[in-house]
Amino acid sequence: ADADLDGDFRLLTGLAQGFMVSRVLFAACELGVFDALDPAPLSARDVASRLGLSARGRGRCWTPAPPLGLLLRRRRRRAGPGGGGRPRLRPGPPPPAASLVARSPQAQRSTLRYLAGTTWAVWGRLGGAVREGRNQYPQALGVATREPFEAIYRSPAERLLFLRALQETWAAWGDRVLTAFDLEGFGAVCDVGGGSGALAAAFARLHPGSRVSVFETPEVVADARAHFRAPRVRFVGGDFFRSPLPPADLYVLARVLHDWPDEACAELLGRTRGGSALLIVEAVLDRGGRGPLPALLLSLNMLAQAAGRERTEAEFRALTRAAGFRRFRLRRPGGPYAVMLARK
Ligand code: SAM
Repeated sequence: ADADLDGDFRLLTGLAQGFMVSRVLFAACELGVFDALDPAPLSARDVASRLGLSARGRGRCWTPAPPLGLLLRRRRRRAGPGGGGRPRLRPGPPPPAASLVARSPQAQRSTLRYLAGTTWAVWGRLGGAVREGRNQYPQALGVATREPFEAIYRSPAERLLFLRALQETWAAWGDRVLTAFDLEGFGAVCDVGGGSGALAAAFARLHPGSRVSVFETPEVVADARAHFRAPRVRFVGGDFFRSPLPPADLYVLARVLHDWPDEACAELLGRTRGGSALLIVEAVLDRGGRGPLPALLLSLNMLAQAAGRERTEAEFRALTRAAGFRRFRLRRPGGPYAVMLARK
């Protein structure tokens, strides 16, 4: 019985303190710890003095980082100048190192800042979101809207952060997603809600014969032009629920349907009827919607942050079929997202 209690308590503590692990990661990024260790390992004391951290703080903050795999503690062979034989820290093994160091092409730093800001605030009101069945932006962020993209884009800086975070996903996974199916031969391609054009630019690179456009809100189009590079991608501004979409053979919808309830998805998919195929990229739930855990958490996030949910393969099949796309296939190229190709 004692052993059971011990185990139960350990499990409970692990779950209850899970947020502290996230916060160690967010703080290390915010303070610049991983960048200070790139390219050469340093002692914890040297990191602290380089970053101007307090003596009280530095002793504690990194202690949990090595067990979490965020930092590796490497013992020096000989005492040397500066380090005096102190163990040196370096970013943990990939993927953390590749994702955490700002100059890495696979850096996920804006994603972490976005999670630490908007997502963190909204998850603080998760109980309210579950009770009321709607997002909690007014309570969590003090904004006077429940429109997800008015709240997330509440300032130009927040909009840019979100767009950078989106971009990071495709720097890591874009090619895998776009090579899951043979997409050669589509002349005009439109990425609907394609953010700052990272996935669209990857498409244009992989298929030099295609003509690729992104349809986005006018503010995002302006940001894409001012702050991002998307060679060979044409940007078109408007509201995808109201304005006509650019004509295309293939419409791409990546992480867009999960923002919206079924009726809005049906409306949006109805607007793509002129195309011959749809490429949908989402974190798909297992049959019955019981897993996997990352997709379940993302689905909860859609309750707290948006108006939609994650869906099962059968649900995507039904949504696309209702819009006239009857031949449906799903592939999992590895990574967080599944890819679905639905053809007429
Ligand atoms: N497809 C991109 C990706 O995977 O990185 C972006 C996904 S993001 C979750 C959803 C996108 O839909 C945002 O970039 C947002 O600006 C865009 N969006 C939302 N409502 C829109 C609307 N009414 N018209 C056009 N774009 C919209």
